[in-house]
Amino acid sequence: MAPTARPTPAASRSVDAHRDAVRALVAPLPAEDVPLDELAAGEPGRVLAGDVRAAATVPPFDAAAMDGYAVRLADLPPDGGEVTLPVVGDRRAGDSPGRRGRNADGAVRIMTGAPVPAWADAVVPVERTSTGRFVAGGPATEREVTLARQPRDHVRRAGEDVRPGDPLAVAGDVVTPALVSVAASAGLPALPVRRRPRVAVLSTGSELVAAGGVAHAGRIPDSNSLLVAAAVRAAGAEAVRTGAVPDDADALRAALDAAVRAGADLVVTTGGVSAGASDVVRAVLESPGPDDPRLTDVDLAAVDLRPGRPQALARWRGVPWVALPGNPVSAFVSFTLFVRPAIDALAGRDTTSRTVRGRALAGFSSPPGRLHAVPVRTAAGADGLVVERATSRTGGHLTSALLGADALALVPADVTKVEPGDALDVLPLDGVR
Ligand code: AMP
Ligand code: MG
Repeated sequence: MAPTARPTPAASRSVDAHRDAVRALVAPLPAEDVPLDELAAGEPGRVLAGDVRAAATVPPFDAAAMDGYAVRLADLPPDGGEVTLPVVGDRRAGDSPGRRGRNADGAVRIMTGAPVPAWADAVVPVERTSTGRFVAGGPATEREVTLARQPRDHVRRAGEDVRPGDPLAVAGDVVTPALVSVAASAGLPALPVRRRPRVAVLSTGSELVAAGGVAHAGRIPDSNSLLVAAAVRAAGAEAVRTGAVPDDADALRAALDAAVRAGADLVVTTGGVSAGASDVVRAVLESPGPDDPRLTDVDLAAVDLRPGRPQALARWRGVPWVALPGNPVSAFVSFTLFVRPAIDALAGRDTTSRTVRGRALAGFSSPPGRLHAVPVRTAAGADGLVVERATSRTGGHLTSALLGADALALVPADVTKVEPGDALDVLPLDGVR
């Protein structure tokens, strides 16, 4: 990672090539064992760093599957006839499989989840017996019970669910509520997950004021840092947002230093990456200064993407830095196509095939030459996913174009007209549904 000399202007690059370049900048974060209760109460979207296998047997003992009476089948007439047995014990969920009811001659009153006595081989549900129903909270008063053999034994057998060593999930899987619960049942105290990525989000632009603040003439609210921070969170990572940075190279360098000090695994900036006179990101990337070792791996790209052509990558003090264009729709499209896969790579999550196929509801034209990312709404149709443009207005500056979109349709560069019913690749957005 030698300091980079002034880079040559970038040649045009495909969306796939740029996504791969961004991914190559990051490596999976270290693994940590996180207790199940923290996983259940913490932020969702943690990713397994290793395979998970059961430690214990589930169920751990033969347990009653119904409230009723535990019996020995040999004591019941095989022909469906009834028998009256003395009630010789009472077992509740939580009772140990110990002495009570052991080797007894008769029927043991038993509640769902209680251990079935070793001598018993079936539970007859109470509603199929002369008792009819149990009184909640009431003691055992019945001395005897009349019952018959049932088609099912109503016993949950030890190990019929999970056995020690059974695979429960593999590295790269997202931790789900079901996994946390099954891991608990299977005797695991914690799961190995990758550290949650921490993403610093910086807006650049001297025109920006904090959202909600007073925007004097010529100034606008900083919406991009909110957009990107929320998208970072929806992608399962932690967002660290700082105030907007003015178009001043030293201010940007100081903000990048602060992001690194804050422990960022990835820095995402918006704005200042195109060819304007005040484009501060480009200024910093193009003139690192011969003795500034903070900046390495500079990669300025013109990507065949609409909206979102100017893009850049680098490392700042070794930390990956992805620079997105400033127009809000461009920023969001580039976040979805380039930053989201990088967050996945940091988190150890495999998302190689996130796109799905859908069919255009209505036709629309698409400018040629670059892959066109179109905010769309999707719905389940009779023949698969139906795709409808979220707005007919186009322009990287039209923030409202994103409202109502739950996916981006990716129209190839050589397609100029999408006809109704045409197949489209669609990239679902996080956190929308
Ligand atoms: P830039 O890429 O910096 O030239 O910005 C392109 C356009 O996006 C300009 O009109 C900016 O005012 C606008 N823009 C840049 N950053 C933001 C932001 N953080 N929030 C809202 N609009 C922005
Ligand atoms: Mg700007």
